[in-house]
Amino acid sequence: RVKAEGRGAFRMAESTGDRQERQRSSLDAQLRQALIRQELVLHYQPLVSASTGDAMGFEALIRWNHPERGLVLPSEFIGFAEESDLIVDIGNWTIEEACMTASLWPEHLTVSVNLSAKHFLSADIGLVIRQALGQSGLAPHRLEIEITEGLLLEAVDSVVEKLREIRALGVTIAMDDFGTGYSSLSYLLKFPFDKIKIDQSFVAASTRDEVARDILRAIASLGRSLRVTITAEGVETAEQAAFLSEIACHQLQGYHFAKPLDPAELPNYLLSHVAGRLAASEARQRA
Ligand code: C2E
Ligand code: MG
Ligand code: MG
Ligand code: MG
Repeated sequence: RVKAEGRGAFRMAESTGDRQERQRSSLDAQLRQALIRQELVLHYQPLVSASTGDAMGFEALIRWNHPERGLVLPSEFIGFAEESDLIVDIGNWTIEEACMTASLWPEHLTVSVNLSAKHFLSADIGLVIRQALGQSGLAPHRLEIEITEGLLLEAVDSVVEKLREIRALGVTIAMDDFGTGYSSLSYLLKFPFDKIKIDQSFVAASTRDEVARDILRAIASLGRSLRVTITAEGVETAEQAAFLSEIACHQLQGYHFAKPLDPAELPNYLLSHVAGRLAASEARQRA
């Protein structure tokens, strides 16, 4: 309590605007340094087949390996980077790094990269993706781009054009956090999505809420009609996984299967995952 008051008193010394400006410019400088010093890292979370449980690919999730603060999550710096041109540098790095890493994986595995729509507005993203695919040798169908629908509101035409260009390369386009924006459905009219990722809030609510389960059923059926792949994220329990497979979601992702993994943990994950799948299928055959 005393400590809190002490901090409050310190805050009084400079105006809120000054303090925010100072924090902003120091974060900007630190983030630029982070790119140069290679402190940004990608962790990889598996997406598993809802029908077989096999890993089908991994989503690359950015973290900032900060020298003092440790591993910093994207919620603390991506929004900030989007307000400056840093999001373009970060996005370009992410695409190159993810393609390079995935090019070393077994060939059936895909890699998903989160991109900000801001990046789509200001850069030749088609060129960046073509170069990253060329340099890494990754087959285009193994790359997936995830875009959060809420960010697509502006400059619809130029974004659509770039999405079409990327899709024409053979790259998969996914709408992330489906259901959270106020015009999710209208985006399906405007954009050539291959895949919908149902926002984790619906999955979390499905445990106790029949309405959430009805919404999930409706999204799964919409996906079937549109012939898009449906992924559910934030799957934390066996019960949720069972329900989502029952309503025929195609892919599942969440802590129930694995947390985002440090790249160094990937080989072990894949080995034990494959061994586990083999043992399970042998057991089924014996039964
Ligand atoms: P997202 O793309 O929807 O990613 C899913 C988030 O849910 C990740 O958080 C992931 O760690 C977390 N998650 C996975 N399974 C579970 C689960 O079972 N339960 C719960 N409660 N959470 C789960 P993370 O890594 O903190 O990323 C947050 C958001 O930051 C991402 O949401 C994405 O929008 C953005 N982001 C992440 N990496 C990048 C990037 O490289 N570039 C850009 N532009 N945005 C990124
Ligand atoms: Mg995502
Ligand atoms: Mg999401
Ligand atoms: Mg999200």
